[in-house]
Amino acid sequence: MDEKIIEELKNIVGEEDVSTDPLEIYVHSRDSAPFQGFADVIVRPESTEEVSQILKLANDYKIPVYPRGSGTSICGGPIPVLGGIVLAMYKMNRIIEFDRENLMVTVEPGVICDDLNEFLAPYGYFFPPDPGSSNAATIGGMVGHNAGGMLALKYGTTKDWIQWLEVVLPGGKVIRTGSNTLKSVSDYDLTKLFCASEGTLGVVTKIGMRVAPKPKYYRTVLFYFDDLRKAGNAIVNVRSSGVVPAALEIIDRISMKTAGEYTGMDLPEAEAMLIVQTDGLVEEQVQREIEICFEAAKKAEPIEWMMAETEEERNKAWAARKAAYPALVRTSPATTCMEDMSVPVPKIPDALVKLQKIPERVNNLVSIGIFGHAGDGNLHPTFQYDEREPEQREAFFKALDIMYREIALPMGGTVTGEHGIGLIRAKYLIDEYGAEVVELMKGIKKVFDPNNIMNPDKGKPWGVIEV
Ligand SMILES: Cc1cc2nc3c(=O)[nH]c(=O)nc-3n(C[C@H](O)[C@H](O)[C@H](O)COP(=O)(O)OP(=O)(O)OC[C@H]3O[C@@H](n4cnc5c(N)ncnc54)[C@H](O)[C@@H]3O)c2cc1C
Repeated sequence: MDEKIIEELKNIVGEEDVSTDPLEIYVHSRDSAPFQGFADVIVRPESTEEVSQILKLANDYKIPVYPRGSGTSICGGPIPVLGGIVLAMYKMNRIIEFDRENLMVTVEPGVICDDLNEFLAPYGYFFPPDPGSSNAATIGGMVGHNAGGMLALKYGTTKDWIQWLEVVLPGGKVIRTGSNTLKSVSDYDLTKLFCASEGTLGVVTKIGMRVAPKPKYYRTVLFYFDDLRKAGNAIVNVRSSGVVPAALEIIDRISMKTAGEYTGMDLPEAEAMLIVQTDGLVEEQVQREIEICFEAAKKAEPIEWMMAETEEERNKAWAARKAAYPALVRTSPATTCMEDMSVPVPKIPDALVKLQKIPERVNNLVSIGIFGHAGDGNLHPTFQYDEREPEQREAFFKALDIMYREIALPMGGTVTGEHGIGLIRAKYLIDEYGAEVVELMKGIKKVFDPNNIMNPDKGKPWGVIEV
């Protein structure tokens, strides 16, 4: 990159927030998908005004800009594949206002999800979207991917809580979408358009969102099954029981075994474990709801179950679920890639069984652990392999083709429930939506970003990147 541009960037944000240090460039070159791209410069703005000036400069010189929160993306979302500027948003991390009467909080995009909830807890409120990465994910990144998580079944995903956004468009113009009112139908719902836009339309610089009363009571029950299909049937039973649990998660045998070893927990030998949790403000209702879920799941013939009686027991159950991914990372030969297919809930039992057979179909050059938010149809089949070995890398991409083209899409599902298209799922976009819808998305992209500087060469909206 021209030294003149680096100097101009330093004039905007100050010398200390512009870095061309190779180590920093390296640190910002990846997420946990198996791709890499090197920026020319890392820039850390601290205000909307700075972001606006940076985007004006980038647009004038047609320099690619890659917004980045904490980089916990798993799809190649923030990777700077064409060089240019990584716009690291983590210094814009102020909680600006909590309006207790209107139950809304205004934050900058670099606020970490758990920090926001820590702030809200003493007031008796919380921001419900709860990704497994909540101790690192930024609210800006959660908007970028419309993050979901363990509580999406009852509480929805990030977009369901966002009321308005301040966004800097390429060229530097600052707009505000949405409103402070609970209801408004006066626009094309640009707020939701930016949710899951993966940094391809503009840079989010302020977020206004609703908060929910924090539940006072929880009931959690764990089920163990000797057969993966039976566990899938239990999920379908619970979902059609008339109760919407707060969480309904699955962990398969491999994930459970590695999580048990990783945490030192003594988990029973089983093909799958389910965690069902109800929550609310009225104890009797929370109790009644778990009883209904319990009876529904029991019809699928679990071999064992355990009602978490204390907060400690409940936390232990969640610790096992949350350890599934880091445990698989630890036991992987090198690469661990958490995938993200979603299917309609009645298809979950078939999907689970078919997913488990994928390694056989690629000569066992990859292995798979399955866990996820099965209650809303979202599974995270997690592949272990070594991306440095060409045969294994090829087998991994073949496994993805099988998973998305032969399992998720024919079942009426989607290639990504919450992690985004990024690089890894680019080639499935046309399979899922057809060329006409992808053309419409390209049109939207051109309206916002005619010079294609925002997170360019990513799957959304083009759907044509071969990786
Ligand atoms: C262990 C683990 C568990 C996870 N569990 C879940 C889960 O349960 N549910 C779930 O949904 N996801 C999950 N994720 C994925 C990931 O954590 C989420 O997508 C998260 O929201 C990303 O936040 P981030 O700050 O790391 O964003 P990044 O990874 O830095 O960026 C994500 C995307 O948003 C864009 N972006 C970032 N900031 C802005 C901004 N200010 N303006 C415009 N665009 C921006 C980026 O360009 C990129 O496309 C998990 C990841 C890990 C590693």
